[in-house]
Amino acid sequence: MTTYAEALQLILELATPAPPVAVPLAEALGLTVAEDILAPEALPPFTNSAMDGFALRGVDILPGIRIKVLGTLAAGQTAEHRVEPGTALRIMTGAPLPEGADTVVPLEHTKHGEDWVEFPKPTKVGANVRFAGEDLQPGALVLATGTVLKPAAIGVLASLGLDRVRVHPRPKVAIMSTGNELVDATEKPGPGQIRDSNCPGLCAQISTFGAIAHPFARVQDSREAVESAVREALASCEVLVTTGGVSEGDYDFTKVVLEELGAHKLFWKVAQKPGGPFGVWTLNGKFIFGVPGNPVPAMVMVEEYVRPTLRKMMGLRELFRPEARAVLDDGWKKGTPDGKTHILRVITRKEADGLHARLTGPQGSGVLSSMLLANGLALVPGDTLELPKGAQVLVHLTEEAEDH
Ligand code: AMP
Ligand code: MG
Repeated sequence: MTTYAEALQLILELATPAPPVAVPLAEALGLTVAEDILAPEALPPFTNSAMDGFALRGVDILPGIRIKVLGTLAAGQTAEHRVEPGTALRIMTGAPLPEGADTVVPLEHTKHGEDWVEFPKPTKVGANVRFAGEDLQPGALVLATGTVLKPAAIGVLASLGLDRVRVHPRPKVAIMSTGNELVDATEKPGPGQIRDSNCPGLCAQISTFGAIAHPFARVQDSREAVESAVREALASCEVLVTTGGVSEGDYDFTKVVLEELGAHKLFWKVAQKPGGPFGVWTLNGKFIFGVPGNPVPAMVMVEEYVRPTLRKMMGLRELFRPEARAVLDDGWKKGTPDGKTHILRVITRKEADGLHARLTGPQGSGVLSSMLLANGLALVPGDTLELPKGAQVLVHLTEEAEDH
């Protein structure tokens, strides 16, 4: 059977960054730039005052000498006259430095009246002036190919007038729940029915990864329904995540239909728990992730396999969560030796002696509330039968520490 590591490798060696497109800045947060971005102009674009104060020639600043103030210059205004020797202009932060002036003395370092200013202490020539291009010169490299666009990058691009940026776009991911037993969260389930938690939960996961989630209508357990839903989803999305119907039950049609449609199977069934009957296919260059219907494996598969795939498609260099070794505070034992990688939901916290983890509680595949508490997934190798209290485990840290 395919192992966890093999399954991940099979997927990631096929995933490639999506062809670059230009997107508006407002849509670019978290994406990677697909080309080097050079400054088309200087930043700041003109020499300006760094303080509210007085602009004048530095050589005119002499203790006890009163200087005539000819007017006031606000940010957004330009001076009508040069600053002549022996005169000053009151100036606000960001206003262009008037011609003739080379220095700004902050308000609080002066004595001043309506139309005069005196300088009790010296100020260096050139002080409190921001020079054109001192931040970025025209032609300077602003962002190198592969840089992730963080808020500061968005701000810098806006200041340079670069209102569109070439990036690897967000993949559109169709989420499709299959199962005759499912009803919408807004409905009251009838006998034997349950609410569909996978579609909303998985859509939320996909959104946090920076991709675009497209919830599709729930699909009944029949060949025809599954086939037409798969066709429809692949017509508009680059990735399809189906939940349920991927095992060998009488009503499990996902695998059957994908094979009939000629999809290429990367693997089906992985030596892992949860997520044994997990399969991945490609059809016309698009990924289809068939995740089990049980809510825990569904979320864990999306976290462990779909997330790195989407990140690779978005051109991100770091595909994986940070991982750490933690001390497992409660013991864990495998029921029977199964050779499978067990993926445990854990709560991690930092202690004086390092990172500690404890299980979220019962690890059953249907216990969705175990996912509520988890901020990490511990990966226990297939040949490990027992982890005594205090043993080391490898943990994928699935949440920002400050969010938990
Ligand atoms: P399946 O993988 O289709 O055999 O489903 C396995 C289990 O997960 C069954 O108990 C289903 O009722 C349940 N299940 C399947 N799909 C969903 C879903 N979208 N939301 C909640 N539970 C589901
Ligand atoms: Mg089912």
